[in-house]
Amino acid sequence: MKFGGTSVATLPRWQNIRELVASRRAEGARVLIVVSALTGVTDALKQLCIEGEQGKREAAAGAIAQRHHDLLDHMQLTLPDTLGQRLEHLARLAVDGAAAHGALAWQAQVQAHGELMSSALGAAFLSHSGLPTQWLDARECLAAVALPNQNERTRLLSAMVEAKPDPALTARLAALGDVLITQGFIARDAQGRTVLLGRGGSDTSAAYFGALLKAARVETWTDVAGMFTANPRQVPGARLLQRLDYEEAQEIASTGAKVLHPRCLSPLREPRVPLLIKDTNHPELEGTVIGPEVRAHAPSVKAISARKGITLVSMESVGMWQQVGFLADVFAHFKTHGLSVDLIGSAETNVTVSLDPTENLLDSDAIAALASDLAKVCRVKVIAPCAAITLVGRGMRSLLHTLSGVLAEFGQLRVHMISQSSNNLNLTFVVDEEVVDALLPHLHDLLIGAGALRTDDSALFGPSWQTLYGGGEVIPAVPAWWRETQRPRLLELAAETTPRHVYHLPTVRQQARTLKTLAAVDRFHYAVKANTHPAILRALAEEGFAFECVSPGELVAVGSIVPQVASPLFTPNFAPREDYARALATGATVTLDALHPLQHWGALFRGHEIALRVDLGRGLGHHDKVRTGGSGSKFGLPLDQLSAFLQLASEHGVTVRGLHAHLGSGVLDAGHWGEVYAQLASLAERIPSVVFINIGGGLGVPAHPGEAPLDIAALDQALSAVKALYPQYQLWIEPGRYLVADAGVLLARVTQQKDKGGFRYLGVDTGMNSLIRPALYDAWHKIVNLTRLGEPATALYQVVGPICESGDVLGSDRRLPEAREGDVILIAQTGAYGKVMSSHYNLRDEADEIVIE
Ligand code: ADP
Ligand code: ASP
Ligand code: MG
Repeated sequence: MKFGGTSVATLPRWQNIRELVASRRAEGARVLIVVSALTGVTDALKQLCIEGEQGKREAAAGAIAQRHHDLLDHMQLTLPDTLGQRLEHLARLAVDGAAAHGALAWQAQVQAHGELMSSALGAAFLSHSGLPTQWLDARECLAAVALPNQNERTRLLSAMVEAKPDPALTARLAALGDVLITQGFIARDAQGRTVLLGRGGSDTSAAYFGALLKAARVETWTDVAGMFTANPRQVPGARLLQRLDYEEAQEIASTGAKVLHPRCLSPLREPRVPLLIKDTNHPELEGTVIGPEVRAHAPSVKAISARKGITLVSMESVGMWQQVGFLADVFAHFKTHGLSVDLIGSAETNVTVSLDPTENLLDSDAIAALASDLAKVCRVKVIAPCAAITLVGRGMRSLLHTLSGVLAEFGQLRVHMISQSSNNLNLTFVVDEEVVDALLPHLHDLLIGAGALRTDDSALFGPSWQTLYGGGEVIPAVPAWWRETQRPRLLELAAETTPRHVYHLPTVRQQARTLKTLAAVDRFHYAVKANTHPAILRALAEEGFAFECVSPGELVAVGSIVPQVASPLFTPNFAPREDYARALATGATVTLDALHPLQHWGALFRGHEIALRVDLGRGLGHHDKVRTGGSGSKFGLPLDQLSAFLQLASEHGVTVRGLHAHLGSGVLDAGHWGEVYAQLASLAERIPSVVFINIGGGLGVPAHPGEAPLDIAALDQALSAVKALYPQYQLWIEPGRYLVADAGVLLARVTQQKDKGGFRYLGVDTGMNSLIRPALYDAWHKIVNLTRLGEPATALYQVVGPICESGDVLGSDRRLPEAREGDVILIAQTGAYGKVMSSHYNLRDEADEIVIE
């Protein structure tokens, strides 16, 4: 059991340690405790090492000693001899200074005292509190090896141990007692010198011991309940990784997750000793298990990590192309200066590499010396400070298509280098250091939203840090109606026939009422293209919604189903002339988004009031195919044609009453509409006739578990802020998806199963003919086996339909209970763009529609 710096720094933590060790003893295990220095002590000792004056060094040693005295006082213990000797030795080293010992050897001795002191203190506390604990000098057990590529610095400050199971050592320790305590971070080399294992190396000590003793397991106790999908201090929404194999954990650790020292996994791999990460203060939390077993799981990004303090060395040489040995010459210099290279990018005339700060114990002298040597063979540029952001996951290359949104984010930044690991486990971007803190939480959200981080797989992804620690507001997942109250009803409906769409009107109403809390909005429209079922139109009319249509068919539907509602909006795109004529005849408010209608059919519009849809030059949304702004999309009038449009309008006696923009669908960022609103309002000031601003729809609903819902209160604030500046304009919105998506489910029935090429296919009786969103947009819909809801999800399925298209996949890599023919499968969130986009393809019947009032 290894306890880190914060876990050994206070009396309550030591009381926890006592309980934890006692509970392992109660299970019959013998325990070797490995401790770090009290938190902050290694830093203080490092600081002591750089003091030039003896007096200052002595003062520093005194302060460090005092911390241990204080903790002893708190424990109501007198100074044990073991600790007294350490304090004296440290004081002597402080007096001596480096000169007497050799700088590096002296530093190692000084810094080793952090662990020597904390372990002595721990032995005294545990023994005193009724758990006899034997103190052990780790240097008697861990023998550092001298490797050919090490220099003196790495040999002393970042040493390595070869840890093979050692029965003699095991027997020796067994003879000492059942509970032993020793130091992390330190070892002894062949010359008998004290050496360090590198910052954070106590984890590695524990792993060395775990391997030498072939332990049942290594437990790393720290201040967080495991390895998370990102550093939880930076990304509170980071999810607990419940299970990892050694390779993935290794990759996450070595790309920046400080929770494990990067060298602590390889010793455990061969003897297959599992490693458990747990929170000392919350032992009840599950933690992360890292072990040898490879479980079937879908390719997924597992984590996003970042390392700051990265130095890039760019080497430019015109003559290097096809020159034998150029790289060998260049890398020889890195070796001479003891600098290990991490990432490599190469081009015809340039090689750029990054130096990893943790491995190198970088010092600026070494880099300067390297640069001056390299300057003899090429042009050198040192770029720092940079940061490396890494996406880690098994099968990264097969995930590239899901990363477009993430990659787009990097498009805004200066990216110095991109590197893809040859083990297919990581993809790394080197950027300027200062952008990282703001970027990480955002990238983490995007990875979840894109389904690249498969948070739906609850066997792998545990709760978020926020949920576990209450460190921030936790947004409760709205219990799905189909899970809570309506399951029996749905099973009955499915028994009658499948496939069917079922709509839950209370959910539609509830969404409508939530939207109506937007005080800044003057007029609400429902974009009927999302779902034109009459019951839904009627319910929304009752809730006070007007309607937005994009075709004559939709106008007819609205006119006949809810004739009482005030004139609809008509917002078509590339519609033929006669569509406009019909819309104008019904009294709809027509929105134009091109010059053509006024240029060629001006007479048709004469005397009418219209709205104008503009393209604000950018698009947003969950997929390329739903982004409706920017030069690549067919929607909206480009702003450089605005004057021409206004000219045509005045020539034809047409009054522009409203300005409209709609950037895309599925947007979960509340800030977005405030920006659109402000842009449109400032544009409207150039058009005196404008009285309303229509900021479109696109309000998203979270699809992936862990995605935060749109914050309606924040949206209202953003809108109200703009409204206060432009009170002269009415504000209109026209959401579709937000109102109906969660209200609909698609019920289907299991037809057949097939195992093929390592995949398990689960066939259901409808597919892309009833729900095309997965095929068209890579949309992710939750899928459950309604018949077996709550049974353990032990199978990993590709859920497919009966259509003769390889794209007929409703959900890939879904963890579900083992299914049988006839089971009812529920596909969630199909209330929007489900039935309305369905087809008779393959001459299969469309799913029917049922409404639950
Ligand atoms: P100890 O002193 O117990 O060894 P460390 O401070 O070395 O603890 O490591 C724990 C810290 O690692 C956490 O408090 C957290 O801030 C940081 N950390 C960075 N990345 C991750 C991650 N992906 N998952 C969990 N913790 C992380
Ligand atoms: N005390 C050492 C450090 O702070 C080792 C460790 O805590 O793992 O780096
Ligand atoms: Mg640590």
